[in-house]
Amino acid sequence: MDIVDDAQRIAEQDSERALNKNKAHFLGQDVDFMHCLECNAEIPKARRDAIHSCKHCVDCQELLERAAKHYRKP
Ligand SMILES: [Zn+2]
Repeated sequence: MDIVDDAQRIAEQDSERALNKNKAHFLGQDVDFMHCLECNAEIPKARRDAIHSCKHCVDCQELLERAAKHYRKP
């Protein structure tokens, strides 16, 4: 993989993430996120309809939930 392309991709993701955060800020979190905040994959409309202001794709949501369990130690 090309490092420059990768950096460009990450920069684009960061700006999209910032934009999404701004949107959420202005609209009070009640936002339909078209793209996953983690991997920028498009979130299917069915998922966005099912989960109110869903911010992550199925894969990332699963990873985040798994990570949350992993880090939640007594
Ligand atoms: Zn994702």
